[in-house]
Amino acid sequence: MKWKNKGKEFDEIWKEMKISSDEEICFYLFGAGKRGTELCSLFRLMGLLQNVKAFLDNDKALINTVKDGLSVQELSGYIPRKNSIVIISVGEKYEKEISEQLDEFGLKKNVDYFLWNDFYNYYFPLILLYKYNILFDDMVQISLTERCTLRCKNCAHTCPYTDKNNKLDLTIDEAMNSIDSFFGTFDYVNRFTLLGGEPLLYKNICEVTQYLGEKYRSRINDCFITTNATIIPNEQLLNICKNYNIGFEISDYRVAVPAIRNRVNEFIECLEKETIKYRVLNDDWIDLGFLYINNTNKEAERIFDLCKAPCHEVRLNRYYTCILARCASENIYANEGNEYYIEIGSKDEVTRKIAFEFIQGYCQEGYLKMCKHCNGLFSKNNKVTPGEQLLL
Ligand code: SF4
Ligand code: SF4
Repeated sequence: MKWKNKGKEFDEIWKEMKISSDEEICFYLFGAGKRGTELCSLFRLMGLLQNVKAFLDNDKALINTVKDGLSVQELSGYIPRKNSIVIISVGEKYEKEISEQLDEFGLKKNVDYFLWNDFYNYYFPLILLYKYNILFDDMVQISLTERCTLRCKNCAHTCPYTDKNNKLDLTIDEAMNSIDSFFGTFDYVNRFTLLGGEPLLYKNICEVTQYLGEKYRSRINDCFITTNATIIPNEQLLNICKNYNIGFEISDYRVAVPAIRNRVNEFIECLEKETIKYRVLNDDWIDLGFLYINNTNKEAERIFDLCKAPCHEVRLNRYYTCILARCASENIYANEGNEYYIEIGSKDEVTRKIAFEFIQGYCQEGYLKMCKHCNGLFSKNNKVTPGEQLLL
């Protein structure tokens, strides 16, 4: 979407929501499972847990029990009040059924109750900003280096295509300044990730991880280093991760690259021994097409709106809505376009509102220039083997 009223795009929308500015909002989470618990931990992080009043659930076995310090109630006991809202926090499979149940109960969708995706991606950050003056981001990343131990043909960050004359690593000051810039504008983030390239090639990984943990861990829900697990972390890094509850996300290429199998197994054993949290990523890969796609402006706009660009990046005082676009622009297209980022670092109201709008899909042209060279993350037709290597 093109910015038409930059810095004020949501002012009218917020007024129309008719949430009273004097009264507190009472949140009820319909579903005492994983999503409900995750949302509770975000409310807790932001000091708003007292606004979550109870879980609602259809499971008779859970009624009148206590979960995350909250009682679990039946819907029949819920009394709708002004400023109280229900969030359906169950998996997609049960969402429709519960939505119909709430309709029958007399509640209105997007007024009295919200579906998970609508709430989490839109209403939640909107309410946080406009009601509580909290700027929240779901996910932000810092790419410490474009260098990598592997050369994946369809690397989403286009690392194997980097011009070796480009600057490949952030300096330690640049990395720390990037972290400061982010938290200079944003208040909280669900997931903060250090990555690359391969971040364990980055010589100051310990100092940067320590800095992030020490200064900002209390403003981050989940914190990870994303790695291909081909370099075993040293003891210093393991200790820092333990101290600050920072985990590893392992992009698993053991099938595509059998030569790294033992090393990855060793990496996982090491984390288990040190009781450091980790998760193994086995996501499907798609060929984004950065090397050969040429979309029209109209098509780029359509793709950008569908894509929602979930992978944000902070780099110095620049906040990029799509790290993939930034990488492709630098690595393949000689820095074509400058609409990928906004400048952050200050807490002034306009900067924060612009950052919120940028996350919600507003930008100067209505798309990023790299969307003209991209299939979009939602694409289902271009599946490729994860980790397939380029021949030397
Ligand atoms: S391991 Fe990750 S960063 Fe390295 S080339 Fe493969 S996809 Fe890119
Ligand atoms: S279409 Fe491609 S370049 Fe555009 S936002 Fe999505 S992933 Fe980024």
